[in-house]
Order: sequence, then structure tokens, then C-alpha cells
Amino acid sequence: MSGSALYDTYARAPLAFERGEGCWLITEDGTRYLDFAAGIAVNSLGHAHPHLVAALVGQAGRLWHVSNLYEIPGQRRLGERLAAATFADRVFFANSGAEALECAIKTARRYHFVNGAENRTRIITFEGAFHGRTLATIAAGGQKKYLEGFGPPVAGFDQVPFGDLQAVEKAIGPDTAAILVEPMQGEGGIRRLAPAAMRRLRELCDAHGLLLILDEVQTGIGRTGRFLAHEWSGVSPDIAAIAKGIGGGFPLGACLATEEAAKGMTPGVHGTTFGGNPLAMAVGNAVLDIVLEEGFLEEVARKGLLLKQGLAAIADAFPDLVEEVRGEGLMLGLRCKVPNTAVQKALREEKLLCAPAGENVVRLLPPLIVGDEEINDALERIRAALAAMRTHAQAGG
Ligand SMILES: *Cc1c(COP(=O)(O)O)cnc(C)c1O
Repeated sequence: MSGSALYDTYARAPLAFERGEGCWLITEDGTRYLDFAAGIAVNSLGHAHPHLVAALVGQAGRLWHVSNLYEIPGQRRLGERLAAATFADRVFFANSGAEALECAIKTARRYHFVNGAENRTRIITFEGAFHGRTLATIAAGGQKKYLEGFGPPVAGFDQVPFGDLQAVEKAIGPDTAAILVEPMQGEGGIRRLAPAAMRRLRELCDAHGLLLILDEVQTGIGRTGRFLAHEWSGVSPDIAAIAKGIGGGFPLGACLATEEAAKGMTPGVHGTTFGGNPLAMAVGNAVLDIVLEEGFLEEVARKGLLLKQGLAAIADAFPDLVEEVRGEGLMLGLRCKVPNTAVQKALREEKLLCAPAGENVVRLLPPLIVGDEEINDALERIRAALAAMRTHAQAGG
């Protein structure tokens, strides 16, 4: 809405929702939209999940905020559970993805600092990456469109083409501290780093004394059918950032690290006012209650395959509109031959919500609790939208 008091930084769809139920968003006039954007992979358990509502409301009646001046039992518990479920030994809670990455970057630099290698501050990153919108994370992402007009980029990032292992090797120098990568680029267009490439990055890190930092902000918390997406590769990072899905819609991020990688993060070197507050911890623990339930992740993988197979059939039926299907689990993308924004709009007209991404991709990121019926429903809506686009193109020329 132009003329509003808000910064004009978003190209918003002309839609407002009044409530949500599972995979559905409902406008004030009662129109129901099937939500395959899930707040950009945030509403991992859909909208108004009873277990999350109970956790949040229960906590809201007891205690909201005390600051990190005190022990926060929910934080201890969520930290221990995340450590038990992942490669990590240590966890730092923040409020967003970008903050989790800021902590990851600081952790890597401090590691070398306390090892006596103050010069090792540089981090190798990849083209097409997205790590957030703070000054350091736009420098890490390296995208001109996000850096322009914001002055000198934060120093210390060396960017190479996505998945180009030779370029990584060449970029490693005496000042390199770490390699930072998304196991599958989300904003970049659902571009997966091959498991073999991930293993090679691990080898390079080990050979050169670098830390491997993964940005699992979008891929984490079950999105790809594993708790963290790097698990598909069989190797572990030293540091990982998570956010989006862990809060199920409550702002929550975390930096995970091994004991060794976190050794420089001693009292006083980092902090946050809001990070890890009791409300966020109650919700994060409730999300884990469900995502870590026996069989939940296997179901995500199975449903991901169902959706992907349906999309592949659609790609075959609409070769003039769809180039290919990409992704893993419930993090899927359709690379389009017509502008992805037009496809997104056509899907919205069929009351299906999705999210755009780079490389002309439309992202499908349903809540992880999506049912088979809803997947089939979405596939029908996609077919209808593409058929309407085709008819429209033929009629309009
Ligand atoms: C969304 C996202 C971020 C940034 O998270 P914010 O909460 O918006 O700061 C960072 N990295 C990846 C991979 C993301 O998808």
C-alpha cells in the first residue's frame, strides 16, 4: 500500500489474512488459500497448530522475558535437545536467520583468534547465496542488488561460483577462516549442493584448518526430510545457523557449533537482549516435540517425493511453461520458462500460495504437516493455473 506509514521495501501481494488452520490461510471474507509458501519455510507445522498454541499461551501466562542475566530453563532444554539431535555441542539463541549467521561468522573468527591466528578472518562464500540483510550477511551473500547504496561492504568475504570446488581451492589462502554455504540455496533458486561436493568441502576444511559453516536457516528442521539437510551428505559442519522452521512462526534463530569451534565464545564476547527468551523457547521446544517424533522426518521425505513426482508429471505436460523440477523433501522448485512472477500470480488466482526464488524459480514450501490430499489438491491447482496461462497466452498472443 503506497501512502502508508510503512517503509516501501516490500512488493506485497494485495492480500491480507485473518487466520490460519494447518496448511490453509483464510482472508476476512472467508476465502481459503492453500499455503505452499508457509511464511517462506517458517510455518513448519502449519498455522495455529494446537500443540504450539498451547505452548505459547501457557508460557505467556507465566513469564515472557527475563534477559540473559538469568538462567532460562527452556533455553537450556532446547539447547540440549538441539545438541542431541545434531552434530553440535553448543547453541546460541538469536531472533532471526541473519543474527544466527552473524553469530556463526563471529564464532569462526574468534576460533582462529583464540588459536593465535588473528589474521584468519576471511570466509569463502558462493554466488547466488542468501544469508540475510544485516551489513555482514549482505557482504557474505555478495549480491549487488542487496549491497548497493549501503556503503563499503563488510570486509572478509571471498566469493566463488556455487559448487565450483576448484575455485574454492584456489580461493583458500593464509587468511582464510572458514567456508560458508547453504546445503541447498533457497532464495538462490533451490540449487542443491551435491553431497559429494559437501564432502569435498569438508576435506578442504580439514586439510587447511578451516571451519565449515552451513547456513541451514531454510533447509533445517526437517525441511528436506532430514533434521538438517547436510545429513544427506554424511559429513558434519563445525558451525550451522538455523532459524525459520525452528520457531514455527515465532521469531527464533540459533547458531549451533561443536565444542571446539565454539571455544572462543567466552563470557562477554557476544550477546543479545531478546535471544532465547522464554516465549521463543517454549515454542521451539514444542516444535521439536513434533519434528523429532518417531517417523515424522520419514513422512516429510515420503510426502516430498509424492509432490516432486506430481510436479515432474506437470513439467512433462507443460514443457512450454516449466523447464525443470528441483529440490529435496518439501523444499521444491519449478524452474519456469515464463516469468516466475507470472506463474506465482496464476497460482494465486487458483488460491495456491508459493514463493519466488532466483533463476526464475517458483518455490513450493508447504508446512511439513501437509497431507497427501492437500498435496494432490495443490498439484491440481498448479495444473489449472498453467492451463489458464496457456489459454491466456494463445488468446492474447
Ligand atoms: C531467510 C534466510 C536467511 C535470513 O533469515 P532472516 O530471519 O530473514 O534474517 C538466511 N539464510 C537463509 C538460507 C535464509 O533462507
